[in-house]
Amino acid sequence: MRIVVLAGGIGGARFLRGLMSAAPDADITVIGNTGDDIHLFGLKVCPDLDTVMYTLGGGIHEEQGWGRAEETFTVKEELAAYGVGPEWFGLGDRDFATHIVRTQMMGAGYPLSAVTEALCARWQPGVRLLPMTDDRVETHVLIDTADINGSAGGDGEGRKAIHFQEYWVRLRASVPAHAVVPVGADQAKPAPGVLEAIADADVVLFPPSNPVVSVGTILAVPGVREAIADAGVPVVGLSPIVGDAPVRGMADKVLAAVGVESTAAAVAKHYGSGLLDGWLVDTVDAGAVEEVEAAGIRCRAIPLMMTDLKATAAMAAEALALAEEVRG
Ligand code: GDP
Ligand code: CA
Repeated sequence: MRIVVLAGGIGGARFLRGLMSAAPDADITVIGNTGDDIHLFGLKVCPDLDTVMYTLGGGIHEEQGWGRAEETFTVKEELAAYGVGPEWFGLGDRDFATHIVRTQMMGAGYPLSAVTEALCARWQPGVRLLPMTDDRVETHVLIDTADINGSAGGDGEGRKAIHFQEYWVRLRASVPAHAVVPVGADQAKPAPGVLEAIADADVVLFPPSNPVVSVGTILAVPGVREAIADAGVPVVGLSPIVGDAPVRGMADKVLAAVGVESTAAAVAKHYGSGLLDGWLVDTVDAGAVEEVEAAGIRCRAIPLMMTDLKATAAMAAEALALAEEVRG
């Protein structure tokens, strides 16, 4: 069975671990979000690709969900001693090595997809990990300048776009987001292998990744959404919203920015029946099943908390079962 998964960082990576356990013989291609990528200290950092790579390769900091296990921060401390920031982005020493290798290879002319493959030769994630695109896409978030300058009042008109990482990591998503813009996405081409993997897939899965800044960004690369809709295979997603709130992170803030309520049903309808065939909601949201099905998307309520591998594998198995039901 060939499975294509559109993944962000933590939610995507943890789900993939469960999927690999539920379907050990499946051939899995992961299309990773690169809208979170950021250039820091002259290095190209790809947080979501690395979270998937480290999680599946056994190098992840388990409790934190991102970054390397047994990490140290000597380089960061030394940079800070020079007054060189940003200090809000936590790059550890082990992680730095990944970004140095990536930046060096890209400087030598290799595209991100080839670099990702080279990095994965070390980590052996057990899936084929493809960036959504080799082109530069950067998710920006539009905020009120008054919200960050602390100046109450003002003309109310001053807005500014900041990098998604600045919104999430520095500001902790503490101020309203008015728009989310995947800058460069409209000009981006899917990375080599992306459209082919979708066309050859037996099933496409949306893990409980952020619907706006993870899955939404991947779908914003021209051709990807169309390829999925045209593949003629079941497309099944799992809700990252449980009990009307994200399990972790800021999905509620970025959903509001695109005019979508933070409910499991609203996210399903945001993807729409033109894209999504099946949707899994948590048991606490069982009341949403009817609304989702009324929108033309087959829906089941099952436990959706990725508390351990067993629970996560059960979620993946349910997603594959729902795909079979849709195909049936
Ligand atoms: P990020 O790039 O690291 O933010 O990770 P993703 O976009 O892949 O996933 C983030 C989303 O995962 C958030 O919206 C969370 O609500 C969701 N999430 C995290 N853990 C769980 C879980 O155990 N169950 C469900 N249903 N969603 C989860
Ligand atoms: Ca991310």
